[in-house]
Amino acid sequence: MGMVFCRGCGKEIHESAVSCPHCGCQQLTATAANLKNQNVATVLAAFTGGFGIHRFYLSRPISGVLYLLFFWTAIPGLIAFVETLIYAFTSPQSWAQKYNNGQIGAPVHIALKILVVIFPAIFTIGILAAIAIPAYQDYVTRAREANLSTMHYEVDTHKPNVIELKI
Ligand SMILES: [Zn+2]
Repeated sequence: MGMVFCRGCGKEIHESAVSCPHCGCQQLTATAANLKNQNVATVLAAFTGGFGIHRFYLSRPISGVLYLLFFWTAIPGLIAFVETLIYAFTSPQSWAQKYNNGQIGAPVHIALKILVVIFPAIFTIGILAAIAIPAYQDYVTRAREANLSTMHYEVDTHKPNVIELKI
């Protein structure tokens, strides 16, 4: 159980105190409105992660600015891709500890968890197909050309006969 300092008198009070027992000053508590929603953070990281939008959302503006400055290198995008998976699979308890002063919010929806795994899988298969299909077509074209040259060769072998006949 953590202790914090009162906004009013500065005395140590319990972190969950709504008001200070010493001076009565109202304390800032994480309300539902400013809770860092794990679902929102996951979606932001997945779709706008390369620009660091999820970092701004999670009150990490310095890293957010770094993402923005270097988005063109695609490195922030790669980091955000990993973060998307981490955010989606962090337990609500750990999330609460890290971003919401221990206040537990909604867990990540199962559909979102499935999506963040399936989309990269489809993307990877798509890239592999984009490499493999042209390579296969190239192979087929070469095989056909090789066949054609064999045919030419066969025709050529007949040529001397033709010439011989002419002589
Ligand atoms: Zn106080």
